[in-house]
Amino acid sequence: MNKQQYDLIAIGAGSGGLAVAEQVAALGKRVAIVESGRIGGTCVNNGCVPKKVMWYAANLAHAVDDARHFGIDARRGATDWNKLVQGRETYIRNINDYWDGYVTDNGIDRIHGHARFVDNRTIAVNGQHYSADHIVIATGSQPIIPPVNGAHLGTTSDGFFELDHLPERVAVIGGGYIGVELSGVLQALGSAVTNIALEDRLLERFDPMISTVLEQEMDKQGINVRTSFHVDALARSAEGIVVHSKDGQVEQAFDAVIWAVGRRPNTDSLGLEKAGISVLGNGVIPVDAYENTNIPGIYAIGDITGRAALTPVAIAAGRKLAERLFNNSPDSRVNYDTIPSVVFAHPPIATVGLTEAQARNQYGHEVTVYHSEFTPMRHALSTHGSVTAMKLVCAGNSEKVVGIHIIGDNADEMLQGFAVAVTMGATKADFDNTMAIHPSSAEELVTMRSDVAAKDTEINDVDAGNEWKRSA
Ligand SMILES: Cc1cc2nc3c(=O)[nH]c(=O)nc-3n(C[C@H](O)[C@H](O)[C@H](O)COP(=O)(O)OP(=O)(O)OC[C@H]3O[C@@H](n4cnc5c(N)ncnc54)[C@H](O)[C@@H]3O)c2cc1C
Repeated sequence: MNKQQYDLIAIGAGSGGLAVAEQVAALGKRVAIVESGRIGGTCVNNGCVPKKVMWYAANLAHAVDDARHFGIDARRGATDWNKLVQGRETYIRNINDYWDGYVTDNGIDRIHGHARFVDNRTIAVNGQHYSADHIVIATGSQPIIPPVNGAHLGTTSDGFFELDHLPERVAVIGGGYIGVELSGVLQALGSAVTNIALEDRLLERFDPMISTVLEQEMDKQGINVRTSFHVDALARSAEGIVVHSKDGQVEQAFDAVIWAVGRRPNTDSLGLEKAGISVLGNGVIPVDAYENTNIPGIYAIGDITGRAALTPVAIAAGRKLAERLFNNSPDSRVNYDTIPSVVFAHPPIATVGLTEAQARNQYGHEVTVYHSEFTPMRHALSTHGSVTAMKLVCAGNSEKVVGIHIIGDNADEMLQGFAVAVTMGATKADFDNTMAIHPSSAEELVTMRSDVAAKDTEINDVDAGNEWKRSA
C-alpha cells in the first residue's frame, strides 16, 4: 500500500494538535493533522468557548437584576434561548472556518477521519496509511457517564450545548469546575438548579475558602447545593427525573439532569497496542516531562496525559514539543508547577499555585497566610451583597508568594498578571511595593496587611464586612 510520509503527524485537531502542527509547519516541516470531528476540538466546539458565551449571558442577566439598585429601570424577560444559541454557534463556526483556512494556508495536510496506529511509525485513516518520524497523540477526552441505573436519563456537558430550550428544573451532578459553571449559568438564565456533589464541598481540589464562599454565593442565587450525595440511580416519575443517592436520599423532580462527573481520555480505539504504547487503566497515556511516551518518536500532549486539563496547557505542550523536535531546543518543555486557572462560576474564581494546606505540607510552619473578604463596590448598592474573598499563601522568611486564591467579580481577569509575578518568584514585599490601582478589587492583593486596624477600608468595605487575618 502507498504510504504518505511526513515529518510529524498530529492525531486530533484540538488545542494541542493544532498548536504542535502550526509550529512545526512554521519551521518548514511536512505536517499532517488528523481529526474525526470538528476542527478546534473540545475547547472551541463544546468546552471553553461556548461555555464562556453562556457565562457572559448569565453575567448580563445578573447585571440587569442589579441595574435598578443604580437607578436604571431595566427589567428581565424570559431568556431567548434560540437567539443565544444561534449567536454562540455562529461564533463557533467562524472559529472553525478560521482554523480550516489557517491549516490550508500554512501547508498543513488535513486528514478527515478516525486515526488508528498500525505500527510505531504508521497510522491508518479510512484505510489509507500515513507515516511520520514523529507522531503526536492529542486526542483529548470525553465526558463520563457513570454506570448507574437510569444513567441514560441524564446528559453531559456535550448535551448541555445541544439543548434546544432552557429546562425549567435541572440537576447538575458534579461538584467540579464544569458542574459549578453549568449550575451558575442555568440558574442565572432562569432554570431552578440543584447542584449535587459526591464530596463534602464543591471544588474539593481548591482552597477551602473558595468552596465556602462559592457555596454561600450559590445559595444566595437560589441554587440548591447538595454535598456528600453519592448518586446511585436516576429514575423517571410522573413529575420528571428523580435522583437517588446510595444512602436513600432523593432529589426531585427535574426536566433535565446533567452529568459533570469527570472526563476520560480518548484512547480506547486508537490501536495503541499496535505501536506498543503504554496506557493506564483510566485511559491516560503516561509521558515524561518532555511529553515522550514509552515509544521513541511517539508523544502525547493535552488532556490525554491526565495532567492539568486546560487549553493553554495543551497549547504550550504542543509548541514546546515542536521547538524541541525541530528547532534545536533540547530543553524545551512545559513548566507544570504554576498553572493559573479560572472557574467561570458566579462569581468567578481564579487560582494559581499552592493551596494553604499544600503549602503547609510542603513548607511546614514557614507559611504565612493573608486573607481578605469584602463587599466590592459593584455590589455594595445591591441587596444580595455578593462578596469577594482573597487569600495569599506565602512561604519562608522571604514570604515568597506560592499561592493566590480569589473568588469574586473580575477574578478571572485579575489573576493573569499576578500569575506572572508568582511564576517569577515574587515575595509579599514585592506585592506591597507595587502601587495599588484604586478603587478596584485587585488592589486588595497589594495592600494586604497583618494589622487589622491599619487597613484603610473606605472604598471596598462599604458594608463594614471586611475581615483581615494573618496567621503563622
Ligand atoms: C465544558 C468544558 C469547559 C471547559 N472550559 C475550559 C476553560 O474555560 N478553560 C480551559 O483552559 N479549558 C477548558 N476546558 C478544557 C479544554 O477544553 C481541554 O483541556 C482542551 O480542549 C484539551 O485539548 P486537547 O488538545 O488535549 O484535546 P481536544 O481539544 O479535546 O482535541 C482532541 C481532538 O481529537 C479528536 N480525536 C479524538 N480521537 C481521535 C482519533 N482517533 N482520530 C482523529 N481525531 C481524534 C477529537 O475529535 C478532538 O477534536 C473545558 C472543557 C469542557 C468540557
